[in-house]
Amino acid sequence: MPLQAPLPSEYTERSDAELRDRISVAKEKLGRRVCILGHHYQQDEVIEFADYTGDSLKLSQRAAEQRDAEYIVFCGVHFMAESADILTAPEQQVVLPDLSAGCSMADMAHIDQLEGVWPLLVEQVGAPLTPITYVNSSAAVKAFVGRHGGACCTSSNAKLVLEWALQGATPGRPGTGRKVLFVPDQHLGRNTAYALGWPLEQMAVFDPHQYNGGLSAERCARTQIFLWKGHCSVHQLFKVEQIETLRRQPEPWRIIVHPECTWEVCQQADEVGSTEYIIRTVTAAPPGTCWAVGTELHLVNRLAQQNRDKRVRSLAGMQCLCSTMYRIDLKHLCWALENLAAGRVVNRIAVDAETRHWARVALDRMLALVPAQPVSAR
Ligand code: SF4
Repeated sequence: MPLQAPLPSEYTERSDAELRDRISVAKEKLGRRVCILGHHYQQDEVIEFADYTGDSLKLSQRAAEQRDAEYIVFCGVHFMAESADILTAPEQQVVLPDLSAGCSMADMAHIDQLEGVWPLLVEQVGAPLTPITYVNSSAAVKAFVGRHGGACCTSSNAKLVLEWALQGATPGRPGTGRKVLFVPDQHLGRNTAYALGWPLEQMAVFDPHQYNGGLSAERCARTQIFLWKGHCSVHQLFKVEQIETLRRQPEPWRIIVHPECTWEVCQQADEVGSTEYIIRTVTAAPPGTCWAVGTELHLVNRLAQQNRDKRVRSLAGMQCLCSTMYRIDLKHLCWALENLAAGRVVNRIAVDAETRHWARVALDRMLALVPAQPVSAR
């Protein structure tokens, strides 16, 4: 992960109120030349300045539509800024206000690991193998997937993409059709495949730290879906015991969780869906209903504020927040915008042309399966 140099004291020693004023001035000075994107998991004080909020892919698509915007300031994490750079025009420059805002899940699948394990796995599986990567991965991993005939997916469209990748394969009938290596989130891969009817026995966790993923040749032969051993450090904090505790309470809690949660948690939940699905479902629910939500805390708190006619709480009793995204704060946003307003581009995220091309291929294969959805504008 790139290192962020410490900010000057003119940012670190200022009050939030002063930083807010300075951000407003810089934003006004830049006008339509800047577009600020705020991911759903971002803290409220940053979201306040976002032109658009949404999930990573939709924000990148919206950024690409803002042809006047020379600068895209992505208040998210590193892989999201890379995706924005891939999807926007070459003259649009993408800025990540804090370079240390990475994603622990994306970091669990390094391109060197993937390139290292791929040839042997292809040899062992005994069938055509398609790589699928969750968009929560580096541009280099996306490019690898594009080069090898695969596609990206999001938590909203993972079912469609996985079905496409498993052409000719039938659940419960080993040895038919194509096989899949799903990177980097084992939980999204497992939950999606299971929802499509694939039994757990036809899936295997592929541990990139072990020879051939820790799998024997025989296990490879009878596995249809290889699940890269990666996870989200936030969503793995949700546990079955938390659901059981809520089920014992007098209120009729509805449990809704993100598919990055474990299979066991998803099986016990009432509903499983992407961030956008969670927002839509809770917002459309009747007044008086009670919702325990298994996803990032800033989003849950915002949902609770926007749905005061319902009870909305985090499924966990602890602070399940994305600590890396939290690194983007008023200080870093102010620093990035004031530099842009002064004509200096700081923390530019630029993907090289070759990587950009193949990553775009993987993204376009996904987009061909799923038309783009609108994002919420503020
Ligand atoms: S919530 Fe999890 S998957 Fe999303 S950016 Fe944070 S660490 Fe990565």
